[in-house]
Amino acid sequence: MSAPPRLPPLPTIRDILKLYHLSARKSLSQNFLMDQNLTDKIVSKAGKLYGSHVLEVGPGPGGLTRSIIKRVPEKVVVVEKDPRFKPTLDMLAESFSTINKRMDIVYDDIMKTNVERLLPTEGKREWHDKPPDIFIIGNLPFSVSTHLIIKWLHAMSEKRGAWAFGRTKMTLTFQKEVAERLVAQPYGSQRCRLSVMAQTWTFPVLRFIIPGKAFVPKPDVDVGVVSFTPLVHPLTQHNFEFFEKVVRHVFIYRQKYSVRCIETLFPRDRCKDLALLMFKLADLDPTIRPYQLTVQEIDRLATAYKYLLEKHPELALYEHRKSRSILPISKTRNIVVEDYEEM
Ligand code: SAM
Repeated sequence: MSAPPRLPPLPTIRDILKLYHLSARKSLSQNFLMDQNLTDKIVSKAGKLYGSHVLEVGPGPGGLTRSIIKRVPEKVVVVEKDPRFKPTLDMLAESFSTINKRMDIVYDDIMKTNVERLLPTEGKREWHDKPPDIFIIGNLPFSVSTHLIIKWLHAMSEKRGAWAFGRTKMTLTFQKEVAERLVAQPYGSQRCRLSVMAQTWTFPVLRFIIPGKAFVPKPDVDVGVVSFTPLVHPLTQHNFEFFEKVVRHVFIYRQKYSVRCIETLFPRDRCKDLALLMFKLADLDPTIRPYQLTVQEIDRLATAYKYLLEKHPELALYEHRKSRSILPISKTRNIVVEDYEEM
């Protein structure tokens, strides 16, 4: 096989930041990765990019973008909120075009971007097939990446957006503690709602940790790189909103018996009986603690809850005041993720 075409030499990211007077904006939680070994490492964990389509979120001055284009994908689309990076991103697009490849730059908020229209329909694969040659990569601010993964898990569960093309893989950065929660297994100290939601639809892998000092400016925390491969068979058949509600209630008191948590699904006067009935229907010990439950066990609880709602539809109207949905009132806005970050 012939060697991949070489890109023309480019000034360093440090020089580019100086040249265009680009300082990191606190309001957008900008922390730049200057070390090409680290950006190369992130990209190497994403998959085989040669000839593929890559969507990068939050390219900033383009450190990670360089590592992506070095792998010679067929096309790169970057979505960046801050237009100050135009000159540096234009320079990368120009450099990429010298080897007859295309990089499109979209200035938008990724939370509002219609990702589906940015990806190639010809790259579409069946869900049970191997993942398409489409990769999502991003080093986003922590708050955005947590919101985004929830929004994207929802889209994945409905095979929308990037998942209208098949089991599109993602490689994203998170605050180290959040990364550890995403992959935490039952009985693990970090097991929480986020672990269950991520593992119901994907196989998340914590690839490596980047020390905070590798970023400019240095954030107070370290960073975990997590890759997600959508599961051929998600671990629930329930819809996202319904399953999320059950998971939220299961983890309402992390250390108590899970039956106490499930009681919060029901009005006070009937909660004890109905919660016990749910555990009976799910064939589970009511004294099991939330962090000990597997996704499959939580799914059995969800099925039992569904059965009870079919018998007593009025129960669906009950809302416990402590339970806050991660789901937005208007699907993409006001997503409450603080609980995920705290728990
Ligand atoms: N990828 C670059 C790197 O690794 O050095 C920059 C990383 S910096 C942590 C996050 C980048 O995401 C910034 O360029 C910021 O402007 C951008 N960003 C923040 N919020 C965004 C959003 N909602 N949509 C798109 N980009 C966003």
